[in-house]
Amino acid sequence: MRLADKVALVTGSGSGIGRAIAERFAREGARVIVNDLHRDRAEETVQRIAAAGGEALAIQADVTQSAAVQAMVEQGIAAFGQIDILVNNAGASQGDDILTFDEATWDWNLAVVLKSAYLCSRAVLPRMIERRSGAIVNISSVNGIAGLGEEAYSAAKAGMNVLTKNMAVKYGRFGIRVNVICPGTIRTPIWGPRLEKDPLIFEKLAKWYPLGRVGEPEDIANAALFLASDEASWITGTVLIVDGGLLAG
Ligand code: NAD
Repeated sequence: MRLADKVALVTGSGSGIGRAIAERFAREGARVIVNDLHRDRAEETVQRIAAAGGEALAIQADVTQSAAVQAMVEQGIAAFGQIDILVNNAGASQGDDILTFDEATWDWNLAVVLKSAYLCSRAVLPRMIERRSGAIVNISSVNGIAGLGEEAYSAAKAGMNVLTKNMAVKYGRFGIRVNVICPGTIRTPIWGPRLEKDPLIFEKLAKWYPLGRVGEPEDIANAALFLASDEASWITGTVLIVDGGLLAG
């Protein structure tokens, strides 16, 4: 059990990558706080974890709202006593080209991806500092590194990468590690609307990937588990690209 006695908060874990991370962490012995904007999704993840013999708690909260984030962290600590691991996973994107989307869309992308990571980190850090221990794993994107479109989302993900490095430098002396994963295309419900328009989208995208396939949520869960575990005890400030070789080309 690589996360025995640990408590993990995983934002946006009612679906896709977050759900895979929550389930993987629970299988490794962590008690998991399952957050999502949608209560039913969070509860479904908790049921899946319970069915596999794990322990988890669903908390509905919009992670772009500071009061809701603070209340979520307090509720999680009241239930499980501590938060050792935070995974800033919640995210979504809207709009592609800065000439076509409006200011509200820009603000929305920055809030869902970047402000949420700031608010959740700010809420868990004081107790991590007190306990001289903690691991934060941010879920960014290859879009935060290369110019692949979805400009507001990509700018927010790039911001997340730099926020990770700054936090790693600042809080390392308190035994807190902060790392970020940049996934390539992962087969999750986030692709729903695009999959509806083009049912072969993953097969088409796979051609761009040296390993010949798009990623699965478990590919990211495995990387997150490593970074959250003591096996990564001397790794902080790292941008880990998990993309089947896409950016290597
Ligand atoms: P998903 O849509 O399957 O899951 C995201 C979850 O986050 C949803 O359940 C949603 O309700 C929740 N969420 C959204 N806004 C929220 C908010 N304000 N508060 C709380 N919960 C909120 O998507 P996914 O593909 O699993 O994406 C997870 C993360 O991975 C995102 O940050 C995304 O940007 C990133 N990512 C995904 C891919 C991909 O191809 N799927 C690639 C790179 C990065």
